[in-house]
Amino acid sequence: MQSVGRHRWIALAAVVVAVVLVVVVVQRVGPTSDDTTTPPVPSVSPSVDPSADPTAALPLAGRVVVVDPGHQLGNGRQSRLVNQLVDAGGGLRKPCNSTGTASDDGLPEATVNFAVAQRLVARLEQLGATVELTRTTNSAEESGPCVDARGRAGRPGADLLVSLHADGAAASDRGFHVIAPGPLTGDGPSRTDVLLPEAAALASTLRDELLAAGFPTAPYVEGGLDERSDLGTLNLSQVPAAMVEMGNLRNADDAALLGSEEGQQAYADAIASGVVAWVGADRPSR
Ligand SMILES: [Zn+2]
Repeated sequence: MQSVGRHRWIALAAVVVAVVLVVVVVQRVGPTSDDTTTPPVPSVSPSVDPSADPTAALPLAGRVVVVDPGHQLGNGRQSRLVNQLVDAGGGLRKPCNSTGTASDDGLPEATVNFAVAQRLVARLEQLGATVELTRTTNSAEESGPCVDARGRAGRPGADLLVSLHADGAAASDRGFHVIAPGPLTGDGPSRTDVLLPEAAALASTLRDELLAAGFPTAPYVEGGLDERSDLGTLNLSQVPAAMVEMGNLRNADDAALLGSEEGQQAYADAIASGVVAWVGADRPSR
């Protein structure tokens, strides 16, 4: 009985092995054409899929952007503080700040700059950035900060600084321009010279995105791109910096745009697109 039982078990095992072999062979000779069209198995957790680019949805993740809303609403009331001379880079000394311009209707530049900055911060944060502001209020009771503090703003490791302004040019001239820092000729220390090429790229990228959004360039600045060596905010920045003169507040069309929520959002979106485009052009994190 024992030997008969053993034979039965061997026969059963042989059948099992044969069935397994058949299944394997059938699977291997199965329709190979499907292999190339079968979609990849969805990953249980998209974050562990090595083919997924986690930065695609948040192109500014890990980036630190300094946003500088030019002037302060109370600058006009505190002339002693605002007129004190401060370091403006390259041995230059300039007034701490100024009142900025205003529209014919009395809309102050400080208020426009701050409104666009609020929207820009929201958009940059949506895109994953950490944002630092040089001023967090727009108050008639406050002045400053001074241009030297604005230029030096931002923690070590910030990626860039964008300063927001509106111009006060001839009423007939409509449009924006972007200012990049120029080389310093004075004897004072310059921190920006090594950053000039990156800052120039930042300025032209911002110009391109504002143009693409439909904003016209100012006729008094060729190509909407300027370079200046006399602005403390740009001269003293320790990171690539650019100043956006978003429009001419003395021009009625620009003033209407700069004073409207839609216009302010459009400026903020275009500037944020410029930041994304500049960061995306292979800028290493600082
Ligand atoms: Zn200004």
